[in-house]
This record gives sequence, structure tokens and C-alpha cells, in this order.
Amino acid sequence: MTKKELTEFIRKYFPDVTDTQQARHLGRQKGWYVVSSRRKNHLDTLRERKLRFFDDSYYLVSLEEEYPGWTPERRKGISTEDFEKLKKLYDYRCATCGSKEGEPNLKNPSRITDLQKAHLNPHRAGDGYIPQCEECNRAYRDWFVFDKKGRVRTIADARVVLRADEKVQRDVYMILKSKFERKGS
Ligand SMILES: [Zn+2]
Repeated sequence: MTKKELTEFIRKYFPDVTDTQQARHLGRQKGWYVVSSRRKNHLDTLRERKLRFFDDSYYLVSLEEEYPGWTPERRKGISTEDFEKLKKLYDYRCATCGSKEGEPNLKNPSRITDLQKAHLNPHRAGDGYIPQCEECNRAYRDWFVFDKKGRVRTIADARVVLRADEKVQRDVYMILKSKFERKGS
């Protein structure tokens, strides 16, 4: 499909949309094998597959293969190589409990420690990672935000508060009530 066709098609249904060529993002962002004939590296793909060449167009190359090098958001994160470096930095120990990789876990000695990538902040992958043993990683789930020393800094999931004593829950309620309650309402 030429870029002009795409623009006209979108305009017909969404006259107010400013970016009428959003389809170009389907490849890199969503994994569809959509390429632009403008990009030199893509030209080879078109040639290899003997696809007819149209100037200034988008191609859906295949429905079976995903966009080359595409990684779904959920699989993104730290590379194996970077994780090795990170573990070395922590002397191959769990940042939270100190269990050493390959040795009996300090919290559960019947198990051999296996270090895993744990988010500092489960809701913000960009904040970085710490190595955590399976035991710690599982116990804290995605409920807390950690500092680089593996200590809990704050909560990441508000539902954690439901596990607290009723007294604590009431305190949280009062604190937030006074914080968010608008004056005079
Ligand atoms: Zn641990």
C-alpha cells in the first residue's frame, strides 16, 4: 500500500487524525512484519522475496513471521550479559538476603540459590534491577519498591495495605483522607 493510499484511507474514517501513517509503527512496536520501501535495509527483504516494488509504500511482508529483531514489551529488560555483570557486582548474592548463587539458600537451606532479575520498581522497568534469590523474589512479588541494597523502600502496589493490621489500615485511611480531602468539602 502506498503511503498516499494509507493517508487517504485513514482520512476517510478519521478526518481529525494528524498522524495518518501510524501503521508504520506496527512493525517495531507491535511485531507485524510491516516495512517501508524507503528504508534501504528493507529493500533487500523485498528483493529477496520477489515482491513488486512500489515507491514510498508500506509492505506487509508476512503474516507468519514477526518483524525482525522485534521484542515484545514484556520480554524487554536486562540482557543476559548485563545480568551477569550485575550479579558480579553483588558478588553473586541476593541483594535482599545475601544468599549466594549455587549455594544453599539462607532462607530455605534445602534449596540451592538461583538468582533472578528483580525490578527495583516493578512498575518502572527503567529504574533498573537487582539480583534476588527465588525465595525473596517470590515472597515480595510485585508489591514493593527496592533500593539498590535490596531493602524495601516503599510499596508498589496499594493492595499490600490490606495485609496489615486493622489499626494500620485505619491509620492509612486517616492519613490519606487528610491528605486528599479538599478544604471545605
Ligand atoms: Zn534472597
